[in-house]
Amino acid sequence: MKSGRTTTQEFDAVVIGAGFGGLGMLRKLRDELGMSVRIYETGDGVGGTWHWNRYPGARCDSESYIYCFTFSKELLQDWNWSGKYPEQPEILSYLNHVADRFDLRRNIQFDTKVVSSRYVEETNRWEVETDTGDRVTAKFFITWIGCISTSNVPTMNGLESFEGEWHHTGDWPHDGVDFAGKRVGIIGTGSSGIQAIPVIAEQARSLTVFQRTPQYTIPARHGTIDRKFLEEEVKPNYEKILEKARWSKSGNAVNFSERLALNATAEERKEAYEAGWTEGGHKFLWGSFKDIGKDRRANDTAAEFIRAKIREIVKDPETAEKLLPTDHPLGSKRALIDTDYFETYNRENVELVDIRHSPIQTITPSGIRTEDSEFELDMIVFATGFDAMTGSFFKIDIRGRNNLSLKDKWSEGPKTYLGLQVAGFPNMFMITGPGSPSVLSNMTVSIEQHQEFISDFLDYMRANDIEVAEADPNSEIEWVSHVNKVAESTMYMLADSWYLGANIPGKPRVFMPYAGGVGTYREKCNEIVDKGYEGFILRA
Ligand code: NAP
Repeated sequence: MKSGRTTTQEFDAVVIGAGFGGLGMLRKLRDELGMSVRIYETGDGVGGTWHWNRYPGARCDSESYIYCFTFSKELLQDWNWSGKYPEQPEILSYLNHVADRFDLRRNIQFDTKVVSSRYVEETNRWEVETDTGDRVTAKFFITWIGCISTSNVPTMNGLESFEGEWHHTGDWPHDGVDFAGKRVGIIGTGSSGIQAIPVIAEQARSLTVFQRTPQYTIPARHGTIDRKFLEEEVKPNYEKILEKARWSKSGNAVNFSERLALNATAEERKEAYEAGWTEGGHKFLWGSFKDIGKDRRANDTAAEFIRAKIREIVKDPETAEKLLPTDHPLGSKRALIDTDYFETYNRENVELVDIRHSPIQTITPSGIRTEDSEFELDMIVFATGFDAMTGSFFKIDIRGRNNLSLKDKWSEGPKTYLGLQVAGFPNMFMITGPGSPSVLSNMTVSIEQHQEFISDFLDYMRANDIEVAEADPNSEIEWVSHVNKVAESTMYMLADSWYLGANIPGKPRVFMPYAGGVGTYREKCNEIVDKGYEGFILRA
């Protein structure tokens, strides 16, 4: 335990995490409901994901004008993003600006990890303990611990013997990393890897990419933001744009195509895919054909278009062949957008190693040995992802009614009602927990919807003298079954991905987010509210 502070205080609400989720929750509960709130944050600053993920090339792939808080009209009008997609340093500046502008820091205790939180039946309060010795109680316990924040460094023989530096993208040194003159190896080609690879390649002496699964990725066409678009189309129409995003499938204000790839001619398909590729970003998927996400034959037409692009861009045919994704449909893993990812393999200093066919055997003091080769390296970058959605919960000893631990309750996969509450854990709320659209959407839209839901719920409880709110176990069973059923009809079930927990050995294979879409989910939540918080057990 860290030494220093030891306090025993009482709050209306304790919130974990000072990222987008925690900051907005604090503002709502403190400034709109007049509650006493304490945020505990492990880091030494605000930002959450954006505090930790400082790897080169890190940015969000929702467009910047829609990746923001929307509670303040003035903030929306005042803040000017510089890039089409917001880059990590700028998102961090934005969150710092929000923390200062709304005077949020005074309710945040930084450098403090919550180690346990226990519901006490007799008092109807949560007892929260931290690694700094704080023991506080709160009526409401609210988690914003990030869906993708527990870094996964896979167990690899010999890592402790490696004499160079190694880093995980999700826990990147705050002072930066100097690649100059170094032989760098990177393991992983997910969202983080494909962003980092082109940037590291430009700075390092050499870069060796250890790839297990080839990826589909579309050019992001990132650049500075179109000022005219921002000033003339976005800012005067912000409310309309935001409303569209809130009721959309993915939390973005875009138009989805109504056309079917299977009804189009080969020429029409090519034209649509070329247009999407040229415009770039996720619009390749949304704007081309609506059956890509539903019908494998339609999906194959888009997948084949991308494979042809890879063959066209990558000059060495052997490298191009290794980069071709063939074992899963397009969009069954997290959809990716990139800047010069495939082009990077044309650089003299970049080598691609296929570890699906020649797996890593061991890390040696001087590099990495695969089944058929040895690579001398000065640095290893792990872009190997996260123990997503549940990993961060399990780092805290969370106990509900009858001392039931969340870890035990979720031993066969997460069980929640709406991704908001867990039966047996009264007055505990999760912002974008498993079972909500969260990671399948533009996060800020999903986060704000949960902040509003929770805040309205607590207000309703107060107005109606309700002391305890808890998910009904039957509603939880029905919701989990609905989440599974919706996932069954998607491409997501056809790939080994972190959505299914497949990246963590031993993790139950359960599809964790809700794939029904942000708008549909919002509608369901609103119906539940209209029926007096149906599915929640409320007690005076
Ligand atoms: P990820 O998508 O889980 O990718 C991890 C990569 O590491 C995959 O290529 C995986 O290969 C590989 N890998 C994992 N364990 C390995 C092992 N033992 N040996 C060899 N390779 C291994 O993780 P991520 O790239 O950090 O992204 C996680 C999520 O964070 C994203 O899906 C996204 O939601 C979010 N994110 C978003 C952005 C953005 O907005 N642009 C940027 C970064 C992250 P396999 O595919 O074979 O498992």
